[in-house]
Amino acid sequence: MLELRNITAGYDTGTVLRDVSITVPDNAVVALLGPNGAGKTTLLRVASGLLKPRSGQILIDGEDVTNLKPHQLAKRGVCHVPEGRGIFPSLTVTDNIRLQAPPGNFKASLKKATSVFPRLGERANQVARTMSGGEQQMLALSYAYVGNPRVVLLDEVSMGLAPKIVEEIFAYLHDLSKSNISQLLVEQYVGQALQLADYVYILDRGRISFAGEPGEISEETIMNSYLGSL
Ligand code: ATP
Repeated sequence: MLELRNITAGYDTGTVLRDVSITVPDNAVVALLGPNGAGKTTLLRVASGLLKPRSGQILIDGEDVTNLKPHQLAKRGVCHVPEGRGIFPSLTVTDNIRLQAPPGNFKASLKKATSVFPRLGERANQVARTMSGGEQQMLALSYAYVGNPRVVLLDEVSMGLAPKIVEEIFAYLHDLSKSNISQLLVEQYVGQALQLADYVYILDRGRISFAGEPGEISEETIMNSYLGSL
């Protein structure tokens, strides 16, 4: 449903992505892997409309949406869970969910979020910034459900979390993969991402160096793309 076609993008400091094309089909998990600085976050920012590409197109169901603003893309079902969480730190869990819920849908959204992450129910009145890193990440991830998106862009959601919490987060992503929500997953835990993914892209210095199914990827390919650019 979401397609990025021949994207070239970057910042004042230079071009980061060069002629990158990726497709996220309906009901699929697509992993976007690659070493630090390859441009993964930049690509997610292009997909959610936060960064306009210099050239190339963003398509939803074949329709060109390249010029839409982030909130318009969100309305079309593109939900971005940014690196660093993207929650409102001074608000409570409940108020955070209130802000993310579709109009008139707050109670149902709260119920949905707390049934997926019971910990959020226990901490409903706690101010987000005082929660643990894992709990804050769960709150950020719960948005993926409450906004009724079609595709969720997940940027290193396991970053900085204890292994036990990472396991919990991956279990959540696994559940999410069985719903009709697609995921574009940027992840440092390559093994976990490959287990979850239907399709994989490796980004290396701003270009796609591999595209295929997880079964087609060799350890050598992964090693070369990660170590080759160190
Ligand atoms: P990591 O795994 O380290 O998060 P990444 O693959 O997500 O890396 P990006 O964050 O997309 O990579 O960064 C790609 C390049 O763009 C880097 O060289 C980075 O320094 C540069 N870059 C990122 N954000 C900006 C910005 N706001 N202004 C200027 N340059 C930036």
